[in-house]
Amino acid sequence: MKFKLALTAVIAVASLTACQENPVSGRSQLALVSEEQAQASSAQAYTQTLSEAQKKGKLSTDAALNARVKRITDRLIVQAGNMYPPSRDWKWSVAVIDEPSLNAWCMPGGKMAIYTGIVEKLKLSDDEIAQIMGHEISHAILGHGRERMSRAIAMQGGMALGSIVAGRDLSILAPVADIALTLPNSREGESEADRYGIELAARAGYNPRAAVSLWEKMSAASGNGPPVFLSTHPAPSNRIQALNALVPQMMPLYEKAR
Ligand SMILES: [Zn+2]
Repeated sequence: MKFKLALTAVIAVASLTACQENPVSGRSQLALVSEEQAQASSAQAYTQTLSEAQKKGKLSTDAALNARVKRITDRLIVQAGNMYPPSRDWKWSVAVIDEPSLNAWCMPGGKMAIYTGIVEKLKLSDDEIAQIMGHEISHAILGHGRERMSRAIAMQGGMALGSIVAGRDLSILAPVADIALTLPNSREGESEADRYGIELAARAGYNPRAAVSLWEKMSAASGNGPPVFLSTHPAPSNRIQALNALVPQMMPLYEKAR
């Protein structure tokens, strides 16, 4: 009870003092960490994730798949730079992790991963990979990772909140970046990432219809136990419908970019 009260207080104070308007979406977001802090701690978490994967032999050595993913994400990164110019300075990186889980993500600052499980089990086309990574990249340029890190901090009852807000204690933030990766995005965040993701992909020359087929495949796959991806990506009930409605708007962008 005490904890709950403290938590409510932290969130109340935080939402009064540490909300910022996102430059891309215009939405006000909880911002207990700065963008620099979110990126620096994500870079640390990324290095650690990759070195652990490497030790376990879980970094994919499939040259063709790595090249394919790199080719697709490179085109999306160019469009991300047009949508959110500061991302042109990000040190983008993408890893293919050799694990059966249906998962993909992009941390603040452009550190990305896609898992072989999602590519193979859902038999993803290039257009569908572009949709999933476009969606993930949108989370990053829309500041959702930073928002999730802020929520992770608030959830821990304001752990050293003052020092984090004021200073740059990254040793405290590194685990937060990890936790943030396992927290679900808000439904609002999901709808935003869907909306911007399909546009990024269209502008990069990838078929908007693939956004619909991707989520149809995803929902079919959730029959045999929900994919990891869906635990961090709660599906708005009208997701497929909403994406479908965006397709006609996106087709001209796609045709132009092809
Ligand atoms: Zn998402």
